[in-house]
Amino acid sequence: MTVGTLRNAQLVINQQAIFNNVKNAVQHTDDQTDLFIVLKANGYGHGAIQVARIAEKAGAKGFCVAILEEALELREAGFNEPILVLGITDPTLAPLAAENHIALTISATDWLEEAAAAMAVDPRLPKLAIHVALDTGMGRIGFQTPAELTAGLETLQTHQDVFIFEGIFTHFATADSKDDAYFKKQYANFQELMAVVAHKPRYVHVANTATSLWHHVCGANMVRYGISTYGLNPSGREITKLPYDLHPALTFTAGLSYVKKIAKGKSVGYGATYTADEDQWIGTVPVGYADGFPRKMQGFSVLVDGQPCPIVGRVCMDQFMIRLPKSYAAGTTVTIIGKSGDRQVTVDDLADYIGTINYEVICEFGERLRRKYV
Ligand SMILES: *Cc1c(COP(=O)(O)O)cnc(C)c1O
Repeated sequence: MTVGTLRNAQLVINQQAIFNNVKNAVQHTDDQTDLFIVLKANGYGHGAIQVARIAEKAGAKGFCVAILEEALELREAGFNEPILVLGITDPTLAPLAAENHIALTISATDWLEEAAAAMAVDPRLPKLAIHVALDTGMGRIGFQTPAELTAGLETLQTHQDVFIFEGIFTHFATADSKDDAYFKKQYANFQELMAVVAHKPRYVHVANTATSLWHHVCGANMVRYGISTYGLNPSGREITKLPYDLHPALTFTAGLSYVKKIAKGKSVGYGATYTADEDQWIGTVPVGYADGFPRKMQGFSVLVDGQPCPIVGRVCMDQFMIRLPKSYAAGTTVTIIGKSGDRQVTVDDLADYIGTINYEVICEFGERLRRKYV
């Protein structure tokens, strides 16, 4: 993928903000509990390697990713911390994970049999670390019943020569909600499943960011800390009370590439959906939906010189147009996310506008957008 290193459009990542977020999370975690930073999807769009470097300085003890490739990328970059793949990996890849000291998540006994067979091919391989997922109500992956789990743990035990039982975990579906009834139900299911685990592994983990911020859980010793590493609230605007401040790390700016006056009655953009009802100044911004800036953003206001300027006409693949209050020079900064003067546009503002969550907005930003680290 070609990165726009020369055009004036960039995601500016504030490294100090990430450091402060991780540091605060570490300080609010008890001494027996390790903070693992979730770096999936290129560190929620912020750059996995860069975020990992900051997180380790701020006291993170390990990393979680979604897929094996993301774990390998971190190993290739030289990180030696424990890394856990949260999704299900094909059992034939067990040797590759083992060789790179990457822990894998399992959800079924069959998987262990297939992976053990793959591991047996090369007796010099280090053991593969396994984290057992428990489905307590997320309905995604994990053992569902004590009987299933017992069978899985027995198989793990049988193949002690190739596996290490390193962790056991669950994931909550509603930890970011004010209503904690479903959370409590899941927590009870978790305790019921854990009752069949005779020997606790090194890591027992249940908390994503929301759980770590708003719930009390016993017996766990690792946190999978994701969205608030990047300074965002996992609940969006639902729960505003936080144990510590979050510092949004991402700013999105671009320079006006072209400014012109259009006469009353002229239209702007594909489909000619916008027509000027008076003479107007129109600025063109070199960012489009191919950069992960959603086409549905038409009508949303970005900031120029501290003033809100609405996006007029449809967002194109590589450019969009805004209505300016007056003439501005080409190159003038357009703040798409961030502060300008007394005003601010947040990731949550974009998310609300298109009916999604902050997570999706930051993950969608394309590889073509340059990430600038400050
Ligand atoms: C993505 C993910 C997390 C991190 O979630 P946040 O809400 O960003 O903290 C934690 N655990 C699992 C299993 C995940 O898939």
